[in-house]
Amino acid sequence: MVFDDEINCDLAIIGAGMTGMAASLFAADQGVDTVQIGVASQIIFSSGLLDLLGVHPVEEGKTWEDPFKAFDQLVRDLPDHPYARINKNHLRESFQEVTGFLAKGGLPYQVNKDRNTRVITSLGTLKPTYGVPKTMWNGVKALQKQQPGLIIDIRGLRGFSARQIVETLKPIWPELRHSRISFPDMQSAREVYTEPMARSLAVPENRIKLANLIQPLVKNAGIVGLPAILGMQDSLQVQQHLEELIGCPLFEIPTMPPSIPGLRLRETFEMNLPAKGVRLLYQNRVTQISRHKDAFLLEIGSGSPVSRVRAKGVIMATGRFLGKGLYADRKRIREPLLNLPVYQPGIRPEWHRFDFMDPRGHLINRAGLEIDSRFRPLNQSGKPVFDNLFAAGSILAHQDWMRMKCGSGLAMATAYAAVNAFLE
Ligand SMILES: Cc1cc2nc3c(=O)[nH]c(=O)nc-3n(C[C@H](O)[C@H](O)[C@H](O)COP(=O)(O)OP(=O)(O)OC[C@H]3O[C@@H](n4cnc5c(N)ncnc54)[C@H](O)[C@@H]3O)c2cc1C
Repeated sequence: MVFDDEINCDLAIIGAGMTGMAASLFAADQGVDTVQIGVASQIIFSSGLLDLLGVHPVEEGKTWEDPFKAFDQLVRDLPDHPYARINKNHLRESFQEVTGFLAKGGLPYQVNKDRNTRVITSLGTLKPTYGVPKTMWNGVKALQKQQPGLIIDIRGLRGFSARQIVETLKPIWPELRHSRISFPDMQSAREVYTEPMARSLAVPENRIKLANLIQPLVKNAGIVGLPAILGMQDSLQVQQHLEELIGCPLFEIPTMPPSIPGLRLRETFEMNLPAKGVRLLYQNRVTQISRHKDAFLLEIGSGSPVSRVRAKGVIMATGRFLGKGLYADRKRIREPLLNLPVYQPGIRPEWHRFDFMDPRGHLINRAGLEIDSRFRPLNQSGKPVFDNLFAAGSILAHQDWMRMKCGSGLAMATAYAAVNAFLE
């Protein structure tokens, strides 16, 4: 085959979800010549919250105040979980490196040191998480103080109901009320979407129009919550300007995916990784991997143009079914790039439990690649498939990140471990 382009590098990272982004950052910070390939979809970064570990055991739905204590317990109970392959400090260090990078890129996060924080969701429930976008932090404090507050609904925005939030939170936040507005210049739209609203707030005149609608509704409320639409990369300035105009603190509430805080995360990585020397091949898929002497050859894209990447090592951060890192046919689950063995429930009827809401989760949500202590995928005999092939993130077996509320922690900490294993 003739290739339009051939790129040499030390490390190729496949995947542009949280795991691939974090791995690229860690590799670049270590001075590794890195190429990252993948399709960075907005949805896979929803909701923008950075969970380390919130729930364990999932069967009991036990939530934890301290994610690091939860980590100790999980490692004792589930020795096959990927967290059992990492040092607890790596969870902290990877989180600090990622959030330090995001803060420099204009997207600061806030934490309660060693404590999970409960963040209000668009349903009015509380979600335990660790890293909270700074634009949501005022809401965390106001909930603790039960300060009189107002939640704003936007006419035509689906999946967000201020009324429901207020009703659900009533037992723990009684002095909360709600009001509805039409977003400026979108009054005639039957449906409105978060991204155009967030982008429109880059223009100061639009903030003034929005503030003029909200200000008369505030009355005795000391704080106002809105769906997460306060700008894109300029969210802190937008928030600050609106607070000045309205005259009280504001906070964002995450919306249903795809959400603006998730999009901000994606854009911050995309805009700032190249300055670290990472070569990005986004909107591209790896269609084939082969091993030639001591290098991996990755074919990128189908049709034309087709590029080839030659790398000494590869990290597979290709995710599960959503990212197409795993593929389920009628009988079995496959890993499509290298046909690696996938840990999976024995037969298809066992993939899902009878009750969709079963608190134990579904066995298919623990399917994935099995790895050794250096994050190398294993073959049928339990040996690493290749010396320099690593896997990280949600493609790994024996974890249910969604129920355990450990999505970003798993992504960052295992990416960290895989990059370190490559460096070894
Ligand atoms: C609805 C939703 C809500 C979420 N909410 C939270 C939350 O509240 N808190 C939290 O911490 N995390 C949350 N997450 C995100 C979660 O952290 C990550 O999605 C999850 O951990 C998986 O990350 P990943 O990078 O391993 O996989 P994915 O996010 O699935 O990314 C895999 C990537 O690999 C790419 N890929 C696959 N095959 C190829 C190929 N052949 N060539 C090139 N690229 C390929 C895909 O295009 C994709 O970019 C949420 C995710 C979703 C979907």
